[in-house]
Amino acid sequence: MSAIQIKDLTFVPYISETELQKLISDVAQKINSDYKGKEIIFVGVLNGVFMFASDLIKQIDLNCQVSFVKLSSYHGTETTEVVTELFGLVESVENKHVIILEDIVDTGITIEGLYHHLLSQNPASLEIGTLLFKPDKYTKDVPIKYIAKSVPNEFVVGYGLDYDGFGRNIPSIYQLKA
Ligand code: 5GP
Repeated sequence: MSAIQIKDLTFVPYISETELQKLISDVAQKINSDYKGKEIIFVGVLNGVFMFASDLIKQIDLNCQVSFVKLSSYHGTETTEVVTELFGLVESVENKHVIILEDIVDTGITIEGLYHHLLSQNPASLEIGTLLFKPDKYTKDVPIKYIAKSVPNEFVVGYGLDYDGFGRNIPSIYQLKA
């Protein structure tokens, strides 16, 4: 694999399709074992999660439901204020075992709002699973139970993740060229 160009930026290969599938299988096996005998509902955060959610959920051998939400975060009038709007998720998660699925957790701002929103509905349990996690950037206390891979603080694209709306269709993950 060689470097690719998306708009004005160059990206180099970082996580191959083979490695991705191995990482995702490991997460699926953990979930199958942790929730044995239980029903779960996955709540995927669009857009970036679509490939990870699809490959992961195909390997889940439990009774499960699948739902998606879309979150849009933007800075309010104060520079520190981040407003998160939630779209989707009509069904209640009360008394359900819920696993939120994210493509990448960076500062944790996106996931924190959704986590507390779902927690207020009294789920039987609530956990977070993410394909990628940037531990050096994470500023929140919300526990991230399932992490396929921790990555350094570099911008990545592919496998659902975009740069300015492009690159989501790339089947592996590329990293911004230093
Ligand atoms: P957080 O709210 O945790 O800071 O950011 C989470 C969201 O930021 C992710 O769902 C994703 O949309 C975006 N994001 C964070 N880091 C990256 C990255 O390295 N690459 C891409 N493509 N998106 C990122």
